[in-house]
Amino acid sequence: MRLETDVAVIGGGLVGISVAYGLAQRQVDTVVLDEGDGAIRASRGNFGLVWVQGKGLSLPAYTGWAMRAVEQWPELAERLGSETGIDVGLTQIGGLYLSRTPEAYAQRSQGLAAVKSRFNGDYDFDMLDNEGIRKRVPEIGPDVVGGSYSRYDGQANPLRLLHALHRGYLRRGGRVLSDGGVTDIDHQGEKFVLTTAAGQVIASRIVLAAGLGNAGLGEMLGVTIPVKPIRGQILVTERMPPIFDIAIEQVRQTEDGTLMIGGSWEDVGFDLGTTFDVSRRIAEDALHFFPFLKNVRIIRSWSALRIISPDAAPIYEQVLPGAFLVTCHSGVSLAAIHANETAGWVEQGAIPQEMVSFDRRRFSAT
Ligand SMILES: Cc1cc2nc3c(=O)[nH]c(=O)nc-3n(C[C@H](O)[C@H](O)[C@H](O)COP(=O)(O)OP(=O)(O)OC[C@H]3O[C@@H](n4cnc5c(N)ncnc54)[C@H](O)[C@@H]3O)c2cc1C
Repeated sequence: MRLETDVAVIGGGLVGISVAYGLAQRQVDTVVLDEGDGAIRASRGNFGLVWVQGKGLSLPAYTGWAMRAVEQWPELAERLGSETGIDVGLTQIGGLYLSRTPEAYAQRSQGLAAVKSRFNGDYDFDMLDNEGIRKRVPEIGPDVVGGSYSRYDGQANPLRLLHALHRGYLRRGGRVLSDGGVTDIDHQGEKFVLTTAAGQVIASRIVLAAGLGNAGLGEMLGVTIPVKPIRGQILVTERMPPIFDIAIEQVRQTEDGTLMIGGSWEDVGFDLGTTFDVSRRIAEDALHFFPFLKNVRIIRSWSALRIISPDAAPIYEQVLPGAFLVTCHSGVSLAAIHANETAGWVEQGAIPQEMVSFDRRRFSAT
């Protein structure tokens, strides 16, 4: 098989398909290349928060980008609903981050104050003590120090989002090679020749959106792409009647009623296992935050690998003329802006100057 296209998006997880969906909306001829069923995918194991709080701590420009991203989410959810019939379950009525210790609470407070002071615009957050949290979430444990609340935050169903973006992309004429794992990239003149298990794909532009696979794609192009896996373990309970309406970073209720409890940050390479020690620590924290959970059964647990850059913020860069790197930790939160704006950069062949602080040079400067 030999296929020609204007743009080849490498990676069909949340990041790649968001960009591809945006390209299809712009009527850009696009092929998404993805690996088979055995692929490692953060998009199928994440927590589903649509989140601003804390973004920008390490890279100030990320705050404004995340704010714009969540503002664009309702329109995306609406559009996906009408185009595909899939309700992605978006709610944006605020989010809470709970602190385990007074030190953690003080650190959170300082961090968010720093983000606010560097942000040129409105950035509201409240530090709430136990009583303040209890007014919004009566189930909070008596020993919880407090937490931070932001009205910008929310949640969605990440699996339905992934499905809806794929369906919307296909409906607009986008093509997918689901056995299209890229094993070699040859840059010939103004074209990229991609070797895949399914055959050759020739593209004028490529988008490197392969999550952890971007490191290998970078090697094929002779550039270093600094992403590494950080494991997150998640516990899931039996279904419960509605308890929490707002999103809570440590224990969030899905629209099906289950409670997702998470998550760890573990530097263990590509190990996708779950461990008793970490599950126990996650469960202990959750019981501290919400003592009623002692009567609730855990029905499953899993782990997934985060895609983390050295400062945990996104990387956007044209690493070679026509080769766009798009990678981030928060592919749910950023889905709408990737479809709306990042796809536009690829269509136009340039990343705006205002995004320069997101390229890889920030790592060599430190
Ligand atoms: C535990 C956990 C909790 C999280 N919670 C949240 C959250 O609450 N909110 C949020 O916004 N984000 C969250 N995230 C992050 C979010 O899941 C990721 O940002 C997002 O899924 C990344 O999508 P991706 O497309 O970059 O990567 P992936 O989903 O990993 O997809 C990469 C794709 O690239 C393909 N690929 C790899 N190599 C190649 C190749 N050589 N050729 C072709 N295809 C290739 C793979 O097959 C795969 O489909 C969480 C992540 C984890 C692990």
